[in-house]
Amino acid sequence: MKAEIISVGTELLLGETIDTNSNFLANEFPTLGIDLLWTTQVGDNFNRLEEIIRTAIQRSDIIFMTGGLGPTEDDITRETLALALNETMIIDKDQEKKLRNFFASRDRQFPEKNIKQASIIKSAKFLDNPVGTAPGWWIKKNNFQIILMPGPPSEMKTMWFGQIKERLLNKSQDVLVKKIIKTSTLGESNINEMIESFLHGENPSVGIYVKKDGVSIRIAAKAKNQDIAYKMIKPIEMQIKDILDTYIWGEDDQKFAQVIQKVMNQHDLTLGIIESASGGNLANEITNIENSSSFFKGSLVAYQKDAKLFSGISQEILESEGTVSLKTTSELAKQAKQIFKADIGLAITGVAGIDTIENKESGTIFLSITNGEKVINKKLLLPGNRTQIKNRAVFLSFTLIKEFLDTIVIDANHDST
Ligand code: AMP
Ligand code: MG
Repeated sequence: MKAEIISVGTELLLGETIDTNSNFLANEFPTLGIDLLWTTQVGDNFNRLEEIIRTAIQRSDIIFMTGGLGPTEDDITRETLALALNETMIIDKDQEKKLRNFFASRDRQFPEKNIKQASIIKSAKFLDNPVGTAPGWWIKKNNFQIILMPGPPSEMKTMWFGQIKERLLNKSQDVLVKKIIKTSTLGESNINEMIESFLHGENPSVGIYVKKDGVSIRIAAKAKNQDIAYKMIKPIEMQIKDILDTYIWGEDDQKFAQVIQKVMNQHDLTLGIIESASGGNLANEITNIENSSSFFKGSLVAYQKDAKLFSGISQEILESEGTVSLKTTSELAKQAKQIFKADIGLAITGVAGIDTIENKESGTIFLSITNGEKVINKKLLLPGNRTQIKNRAVFLSFTLIKEFLDTIVIDANHDST
C-alpha cells in the first residue's frame, strides 16, 4: 500500500515545531505493511495545501494528514480538502451536540467559531477525539483513502492507537520486520567493510546508520507475516553477529545502561563514578533505566578543582599533573570506588568547551576505570561542540565499562576453572 504523510502547519516550516508526528507514523507503518514513499510539510496556506493534496491523491493509495484542524482562521485543512475533492462541507448535528457538551461539561462557553470542528464531507466519517475538540476524518473515495488527524501529538496518537491502527492492521498484507544490532568502538566505514557482502540484498535488506548510541545495523525483511519475516532475518543476523562479535553491545530498543546493569547484576557488582567534563550526564543516563540502584551507587560531579579535592584525591597529584590528565583521572577513579564503597570506580575528566584548558585542546577526554586490581585508562580526542563532546564521553564511558566487564568476567571464569 503506497502511502504518504502530509504534515500541515506554518510552525513546522518556521522551525518552531519539529514534525514529530510524521516521525511517529513512519515508525508505525512498517509492521502494518504500509510503504511510506513521501512525507511533505506544508504551511497553513490554501493554494499550496490544495496542490499537495491533488498530487497525493494521484500517486498514493493512502494519505495521512495531521494538523490544521483547530478552530482558528489559519486552520484550513478541512476546507482545503473539501475543495480539492470537489465536495461541500456540512455541519453534522450529532457532532455539534458533542462539541457543545464538551464545553458545557467543563463549564466553558461555546465559542461559535468552533462550530467548524463539527463539519464533514460526504466521503468522510468522523474519528472521535477523546482528548480534544477536533475530530478526525477518514475519507474513502475512488481509489484512495485520506486519514485526517489533529496536530497535537498526544491527540494524534490517542486517535491512532484507539481508532486507526487496528483497522489498518486487519487490512495489511505484507509486513516489514526489523532487527537492529547496536555496536560501539568501530566507525561506520569499518563496519561497512566488515559486512559489505550483506549490504546489497533487497529482502532482507541490511543498512548501517549512526546514532548517539553508536553504529547500528538494521536488517529488515518483508513477508506475509512476522514469523516468516523473522525466519528470513535470522541467518543473516547470526552471520553479522559472528563477524562483529565483541563490538556488539545490544540490540533493538535496548539502552547501553540496561546492558551494563544486566552484567553488573549477574556478577553482583556495583559502580561509583566521579564525573567532571560530562557534568552528571553519565549518572543521568544510568538513572533513566528502571532499578538502576541495583548496581549504581552514585556519582560525584566534581567540576572545579576544589570539588575534585573534595573527593579525597591528593592535592599534590592534582597540581603536578593538572585537573585534566590521565594520572588525575585514574586517581579519581580509585576515589570513586572508595568514596562510594563500590566494586568498580570510574572517572571522566576533559575539555568540552571552545578554549583549551592546561594546554589540552577542546574534545580531550580522559577516562579511567578500576576495580582495585585492574585499571584501564583512555585518552580520547573527540570532535564536535560542547553537547556532542559530552554525549560522546558518556557513550564511550559505557563502552569502557563494557570492555572492563568483558575482561574481568572472562578472568573470573578462568580463575574458577
Ligand atoms: P493544529 O491541529 O494545526 O491546530 O496543531 C496544533 C498544535 O499541534 C501545533 O501548534 C503544534 O504544536 C502541534 N503540531 C502540529 N503538527 C505537528 C507535527 N507534525 N508534529 C508535531 N507537533 C505538531
Ligand atoms: Mg495549525
